[in-house]
Amino acid sequence: EAKNAGRNTLRFYDPRMQAVVAARAQLEADMRAGLAEGQFELYYQPKVAHGSIQGAEALLRWRHPERGFVPPSEFIALAEDCGLILQLGQWVLQSACKQLAQWSGDEQLGALSVAVNVSPRQFHEGGFVAEVLQAIAGSGADARRLRLELTEGMLLQDVEDTIAKMVKLRGYGVGFSLDDFGTGYSSLAYLKRLPLHELKIDQSFVRDVLTDPNDAAIARTIVALGTSLGLQVTAEGVETEAQRAFLEKSGCHVWQGYLLAPPLPRERFEALVRERAAPAT
Ligand code: C2E
Ligand code: MG
Ligand code: MG
Ligand code: MG
Repeated sequence: EAKNAGRNTLRFYDPRMQAVVAARAQLEADMRAGLAEGQFELYYQPKVAHGSIQGAEALLRWRHPERGFVPPSEFIALAEDCGLILQLGQWVLQSACKQLAQWSGDEQLGALSVAVNVSPRQFHEGGFVAEVLQAIAGSGADARRLRLELTEGMLLQDVEDTIAKMVKLRGYGVGFSLDDFGTGYSSLAYLKRLPLHELKIDQSFVRDVLTDPNDAAIARTIVALGTSLGLQVTAEGVETEAQRAFLEKSGCHVWQGYLLAPPLPRERFEALVRERAAPAT
């Protein structure tokens, strides 16, 4: 009865709120079960540098037995809130490292790097560095082929701790990218201190780069900034040849986007890499 009273109180407060809370609890339970039952999978989106595939970004996919495909936008934030991102993030790291190890030695696939998205909570957790090193050691992956994508907000939380973690992992060869660059609160003073390899221009600037002069100016500025700091600058969300050409002309030679391919299941990604490596007939 106490349970019912609680429910009624909530219903009195706001029935829509109650529905949202229940839906979140269900999704959380489903995520836990899904992780245990192998419903998660990594897809790989090719990253093109100077015309050839340099690596892949690993993107998490969830195939729910009833709902079908659930996009990251519907579960990553919730996983972050409820703490499940720690297990999910560990699974992603381990899977990406296993993939790197499997590709190593292969003529075409062995040279690729794999980028993994890291969530703020996962990064700030005490055991993060050990977790990454364990994923590397446990799989036999080459640390120099692993790249971790961080976002601006998380780097400002505890700058000294952030730098210490990055420096430690860089010592093993792990690279770092700043994802969604331009959308957060970047401080140029911090940017200079962070041991980064790459800035990724957020796709919101790429989308209208040909029609919106502000977006074009922002994209060019990020390219100039990154280049002068000695970083690789990668454009995200490139969908048309005209966007690619504009970015190229602006000095950005590395990109990802539907123009080449969306994130692909492993076998399709491998096939694409082999196909492009094969001499044209
Ligand atoms: P992100 O890391 O910025 O990833 C880029 C997103 O843009 C991906 O969405 C990708 O599918 C999409 N995309 C790529 N090319 C194009 C394009 O040409 N046009 C358009 N419109 N979109 C494009 P996705 O896979 O839905 O992932 C969304 C976000 O979810 C990611 O943004 C990342 O923040 C997060 N995420 C995905 N996988 C993971 C993961 O394993 N761990 C964590 N912590 N976050 C993840
Ligand atoms: Mg990313
Ligand atoms: Mg991004
Ligand atoms: Mg994002």
